[in-house]
Amino acid sequence: MTRERAHAWIVVVGAGPAGMAAARAALLAGCRVTLVDEAPRPGGQIYRQAPSALGQETSSNAREEVRKQQFLQDFSEILGRIEYRAETTAHSLFPGPELHVSDGKATEILHPDAVILATGLCEQAIPFPGWTLPGVLLAGGAQAMMKSNLVRPGDRAVVAGTGPLPLVAADQLAAAGAEVRAVALFHPLSRVAGDPLGCWAGRGLLAEGIRAYRRLRRVGTALLQGWMPFRAEGGEQVENVTLARHDGQGRPDKGRTRQFDLDLLVLSFGFTANSELARMAGVTSRFLGPRGGWPARGDEDGRTEAAGVYLAGDCAGLRGAYVAAAEGEIVGSVAAAAALGKPAAPCREARRRRAQHLRFQRALAPLFDLPPAVWDWAGEETTVCRCEGVTRARLREALEAGHRTLDGIKRNTRAGMGWCGGRGCLHAVAGLAQSAGGAADIEAMRARPLARPVPLGALAPKAGGRP
Ligand SMILES: Cc1cc2nc3c(=O)[nH]c(=O)nc-3n(C[C@H](O)[C@H](O)[C@H](O)COP(=O)(O)OP(=O)(O)OC[C@H]3O[C@@H](n4cnc5c(N)ncnc54)[C@H](O)[C@@H]3O)c2cc1C
Repeated sequence: MTRERAHAWIVVVGAGPAGMAAARAALLAGCRVTLVDEAPRPGGQIYRQAPSALGQETSSNAREEVRKQQFLQDFSEILGRIEYRAETTAHSLFPGPELHVSDGKATEILHPDAVILATGLCEQAIPFPGWTLPGVLLAGGAQAMMKSNLVRPGDRAVVAGTGPLPLVAADQLAAAGAEVRAVALFHPLSRVAGDPLGCWAGRGLLAEGIRAYRRLRRVGTALLQGWMPFRAEGGEQVENVTLARHDGQGRPDKGRTRQFDLDLLVLSFGFTANSELARMAGVTSRFLGPRGGWPARGDEDGRTEAAGVYLAGDCAGLRGAYVAAAEGEIVGSVAAAAALGKPAAPCREARRRRAQHLRFQRALAPLFDLPPAVWDWAGEETTVCRCEGVTRARLREALEAGHRTLDGIKRNTRAGMGWCGGRGCLHAVAGLAQSAGGAADIEAMRARPLARPVPLGALAPKAGGRP
């Protein structure tokens, strides 16, 4: 039987909805809590904040703004009682748990009783001719410019992608004053209607989506459903995009295309979980495709195979901000109770909320499907790995030579070896490998230190730390 302890230390990585809720729950359960995040201010992807000197962003969605302010208010109430380290990157995690964090100047090695990973996910694009031109952004990048820097990333925009994010990003761009000329949704929105109970579970968010759709229609945005980006062109800057109707399987109908002049093309075709730290600590992952890439495996309380390592929120696979907040609360309580040797609080309300919003997320799932033909959008000379400049032709050679694992393809072509650690291309490399006859559950690339780039000087331990 576990003995009760008076003190325990929990480190949470990530100050988005999941990490903020986990930190709060662990504190209220009686633990010392450290929360680290590489961003300058708390909020994560959805509640991202501009530096206070810049003032407030213009939000197109009043309800989301209310949620954001409520969340940040709850967090500010615990801020004086936890150790919150902004602009601090967790770059390595080893069994123990032993967590290495860096403020950009030095690295500190932490040995808490438990680490809760709430690192969220990053977006993915599907390579096609022109996708690397300046002025082509992923939706998260465009949102970050608007939310963190209060900068409108372009004046004449087209947004293309899967899931609800293209609509959300287009609505935010329009609110920021951009002329949004078209939104090209890969799947018709009616796909969600196949699950009426799931839609009912998320009726509030669905209503927000419908309002965004109507706002865009009112300002004259072409709302195209079942369309794909075919080609972007420009010189020093993207100048136009050609969209094509597709056959439902991602094959373009070259007889039904539309061209738009623009200075901003925003893309969003699914997500990859930031699971490197968990995998580095020995946690296995599964391939989820566009709804999370290779999220690490955890149970419903966030426990993983690695002792003292827990997962909360989107880093375990895309489930949205509501699920992340509820799950943070559950995982924070469970991890704190285990560290203190006490029974965990039941968290009934948080579990009910999580179940309800998971139901809605399942209804949204068909909007994210990517058929294999999308990996044929890239021409032979299209760059797939932009850090290392690896083209589709180079990847095809490696695949034809029999390399079908991500590690094998990386060794052979350098795809995934660059600055971004493969976050920008490995989903596409996996898609190409699968299309070429690779395994359906293609394994993640081996996670090695460092999960995030840090300056060489910052790898020196802080005074008093281990050499
Ligand atoms: C690009 C993008 C755009 C989105 N836009 C919307 C939207 O408009 N509306 C909507 O409803 N949902 C949106 N979502 C989904 C929503 O943001 C998420 O469901 C929700 O934020 C998940 O919360 P989380 O706490 O799990 O992760 P996040 O909110 O993503 O927070 C993760 C945090 O971890 C930090 N972090 C990651 N790795 C490290 C590390 N190694 N060291 C230190 N810190 C680290 C990050 O800085 C971040 O603050 C978006 C998601 C993405 C990826």
